[in-house]
Amino acid sequence: MLGRALIDGDWVEGTILPGFTDSHVHLGLVDATLLRANGIARVLDLGWDPAIARSWHESPDAHSPVTDIAGPILTAPHGYPATSAWAPAAASRAVGSVDDVDAATAEVLAAGARVVKLAMNSDAGPTLGDDVLAAIVAAAHDSSLPVVAHTEGAGQAARAFERGVDVLAHTPWTETLDDALLQNMAGQMSWISTLDIHGWGAPNADFDRAFGNLERFAAFGGRVHYGTDLGNGDLPVGLNRRELAALAAALPNVVDSLTGLLPERHMPLKTFIPGEGNTNDVDWLCTAVVIPTNEIQEHRA
Ligand SMILES: [Zn+2]
Repeated sequence: MLGRALIDGDWVEGTILPGFTDSHVHLGLVDATLLRANGIARVLDLGWDPAIARSWHESPDAHSPVTDIAGPILTAPHGYPATSAWAPAAASRAVGSVDDVDAATAEVLAAGARVVKLAMNSDAGPTLGDDVLAAIVAAAHDSSLPVVAHTEGAGQAARAFERGVDVLAHTPWTETLDDALLQNMAGQMSWISTLDIHGWGAPNADFDRAFGNLERFAAFGGRVHYGTDLGNGDLPVGLNRRELAALAAALPNVVDSLTGLLPERHMPLKTFIPGEGNTNDVDWLCTAVVIPTNEIQEHRA
């Protein structure tokens, strides 16, 4: 949609787009006000202490992006990320049995979460049993919330898919997935990209495996969401040119990946890019600014 936006007191002609969204951040580890100043209108926080995360979406700072949250990460007792240095204790919630699933899901809902996040990392401890996993997915879907899973280690991405998980929080990187699995996944789930965490500009073997999986998942029609895992290592706080460049090499339309996985609750912020450009022109996309909707005018066709 073409139109104009009020920037520093002048009306500038350009392209109006839905608010660009980073679908995987950890706001507890960064300065959220820098995000909006650097091209991000909306974020999905994928795991933190619910008492703190709740305030991010209920009473946001005037300079912050629109924030949706997952609340605490559901995991097996002593499972990832309970023993990880980056995560405060309350960022994860252990679920030991099917009997505990309703209480855990109620805590997630009470935090104001719009997704249920769970972790299945077999390289860093025990993982949720199949029965608990299935019960969490059923409880989340009963509340109309999608389930987002961190999967890591052999077979975990396939397990998540088979138990009805809706979204992978990361492009799988610990193993190369075969075409048959990728084709099935492409019809039923979406992935959050997070490619740049594998080397932060110096792509490593994990990056290569992840990119190969993502490229084939996308070729089968799988939906990919731009997401950075912001807070994990040396990532720019704002639109990440390296993540965008990797997506431009794999996806037919990078702008589609920037609209987030959740419907907008309200639309106080839009993305505006001066001039007109191609959806996969990374240089152009990186000139995006976040504008309040009342400072934008759409041109009528
Ligand atoms: Zn994360």
